[in-house]
Amino acid sequence: MDFDSMTFPLTVDISGVQYWIGDEGPYKLGMAATEFLTGDRDEELREELEELLRTFGFLLSPFADGRAVAGKRFDLSGHTVGCVVSYGYRPIPGGAYFVERYTFTSLRDFLFVELGKGILYGNAPRQCRLCGRWYFHEKGDRTIYCERVAPGVTERTCREVGARAVFEKKIQDEGAWKIYKRAYKKYYARLMKGTMTQEEFKTWADDAAAERDKALRQLQRENISEVLTEEIFRELTERLNRE
Ligand SMILES: [Zn+2]
Repeated sequence: MDFDSMTFPLTVDISGVQYWIGDEGPYKLGMAATEFLTGDRDEELREELEELLRTFGFLLSPFADGRAVAGKRFDLSGHTVGCVVSYGYRPIPGGAYFVERYTFTSLRDFLFVELGKGILYGNAPRQCRLCGRWYFHEKGDRTIYCERVAPGVTERTCREVGARAVFEKKIQDEGAWKIYKRAYKKYYARLMKGTMTQEEFKTWADDAAAERDKALRQLQRENISEVLTEEIFRELTERLNRE
């Protein structure tokens, strides 16, 4: 979207989640705000859009978790938009869309409405968990990473790198659980055979669960190396099989 070539007053036809700017489109609500936040223009306006997102963005699912709502100030009454709205038809091949026709006098008013309506529909900018840059989030989209080339690599996107990290983390967690389950079986068998008392087993099981959780926490750290992972596994195995 070329913000520099936009001329005001700007006529925008909105129909549901789609809209047209003059003859251009259809775009999806939230796209323009995302593109604007991605650029480095007009910091004041970017801050205002971010405030709108912070205030109402939690309504997006999944955008933020419920915790963000506590203590939130649901008041943007100081931020208003004055624009003219009428209704019209927008012909398309084989039919027409019934549209709300907005006339905006500034880029700020257009973006404020575009983002606000986007949030109502479930679309909005989202910040990539890996590189921190904004990308367009469409309703129902569960991604948390963007599709740009990830920082520090040349070929893979944040989404690919992120998916890999989640996968590796899962494998690591499974490794720790496997060690725990194997040891549990072994000591449970001793309990059944009577070579371990109920009390001894309970003490072992409590310690084992604590050691397992400690290992899982250690594995949670970012960018954990293979050597360190092996070390955590080795230590866990040792601690769970002392006697
Ligand atoms: Zn990214």
